[in-house]
Amino acid sequence: MDLNLKRQKLLDALQGKIPQDVILLSLEDCAPYGGDWTRLTGKPLLVFLPKTTEQVSLILKSCNQLKIPVVPSGGRTGLSGGAVVTQSEVVLSLSRMNQMSPVDVLGRTVRVQAGAITESVHEHCAREGLLWPIDLASKGTCEVGGNLSTNAGGVRVIRYGMVRRWVSGLQIVTMNGDVIELNRGLEKNNTGYDLIQLMVGSEGTLAVITEATLKLARLPHKEHVLFFAVPDLESVSELFSRARRGPFEILAFEFFSQRCLKAVETKLHRKSKLSKSGEFYVLMEIELGPGSEPEALLEDWLSQVLEADFILDGLLAQSSAEKKEVWGLREGITESIALTNEVRKYDTSVAVTNIVGFVNEASRLFHSMNLGAELYLFGHFGDGSPHLNVVRRDTVDHKTYVEDCDRFEKELYPLIKKWGGSASSEHGVGLLKKSWVEMSRTSEEMALFRAIKTAFDPNHLLNPGKIFNLLSTG
Ligand SMILES: Cc1cc2nc3c(=O)[nH]c(=O)nc-3n(C[C@H](O)[C@H](O)[C@H](O)COP(=O)(O)OP(=O)(O)OC[C@H]3O[C@@H](n4cnc5c(N)ncnc54)[C@H](O)[C@@H]3O)c2cc1C
Repeated sequence: MDLNLKRQKLLDALQGKIPQDVILLSLEDCAPYGGDWTRLTGKPLLVFLPKTTEQVSLILKSCNQLKIPVVPSGGRTGLSGGAVVTQSEVVLSLSRMNQMSPVDVLGRTVRVQAGAITESVHEHCAREGLLWPIDLASKGTCEVGGNLSTNAGGVRVIRYGMVRRWVSGLQIVTMNGDVIELNRGLEKNNTGYDLIQLMVGSEGTLAVITEATLKLARLPHKEHVLFFAVPDLESVSELFSRARRGPFEILAFEFFSQRCLKAVETKLHRKSKLSKSGEFYVLMEIELGPGSEPEALLEDWLSQVLEADFILDGLLAQSSAEKKEVWGLREGITESIALTNEVRKYDTSVAVTNIVGFVNEASRLFHSMNLGAELYLFGHFGDGSPHLNVVRRDTVDHKTYVEDCDRFEKELYPLIKKWGGSASSEHGVGLLKKSWVEMSRTSEEMALFRAIKTAFDPNHLLNPGKIFNLLSTG
């Protein structure tokens, strides 16, 4: 069917059923909803910004009847192209569905709509001394629905785990318009398949999440931020080993290279307070127990570490402003790399014991290939989740860069496999890592993927072409 005709038929079908201000019509208004942080983009047929679950249901039902594909969309901070329009789909943005119910302090849960911004959920729960412990640099823009659909990780996974641990209820709408409540917020419910866990990480391919019951933890008691410069990756690992045995709970253990720090300093004008520089940096956030003694224990631990020859410099942030400054260096990396040039991202994952071996071998591979790109290394060391960012050199054109990235990727994926890892630790598959899914899953697993997709969405209209192709290429 011709696109204009499709558009008109959909508008006619919804005429009088949903308010006019829920629909964006003009090319200009629709354009920002065609892409995400990957800079991949497409032209939406139309954009809907529903305010209620009933409206979501009416829109999906009409699209299903007219066989019009739909891309669910959150804050569009995704780094693998999950929310990108590829075939003039309708975009269904949840951003206006951002209401939050009062926190259930006794049950330690909160019910929110899918469009609630992650940071707003933090602020809402902090008033009751509670925390939804999903913390990532995009928290001011990403949404709960996007976090759940990507099974987001972030900087506190070492302490709290991934998003999937922090949800006990979902309201979803399937492509045929059915509104389904999953689990109703129960902590215990052993009555068959766990459909919540199937939804988490499904990247908008099975159903649209409209509401979620989020599980909460208590706010950390006393947080401290430490920052170190070290000469190499082995020293990052040595520091991690000391921290694991330290008199505190680790909340975050992040690392980044000198090249990443330079990018943040140049592009965002932030400055490290360390007087010496190193090849790598570590940001550690820890929680001390109650009482006064833990502070003395921390100081003892720190003075011993600072005397060790693998530490070039280090500091303990002395105020909340200083903590923010140190975090600003780590949280500014993705943005400053994006401001530097085109970037291809690999959010890899290996067992934490393999991280040094894997990253060193991947770096050697990268440098041996003479690519028209620079390697920026950072990530969640404590979770075995290094991010390899391949950034185009100014002297190289776009086409050569893309060919170089493709060449590197062909070698990198087998290397990840050799180290027993994964090509997506937390960003999801979206469009960018589909070849990894094909190469790392068995044909039996792929057949199950396709059967599950068909059970939820028999016409294959929801976020088509994301995670895997429906037709087997094997
Ligand atoms: C600066 C920066 C730092 C980041 N750091 C991290 C990090 O540390 N850890 C990490 O895991 N990620 C990180 N990310 C990636 C990104 O923020 C996460 O993937 C986030 O969870 C995406 O949420 P979103 O609302 O922006 O989703 P979107 O990008 O809008 O969508 C992501 C996927 O979810 C689907 N989707 C969105 N909403 C719904 C819904 N309601 N129902 C069904 N499907 C839906 C979309 O179709 C798409 O497939 C970072 C991104 C940036 C820009």
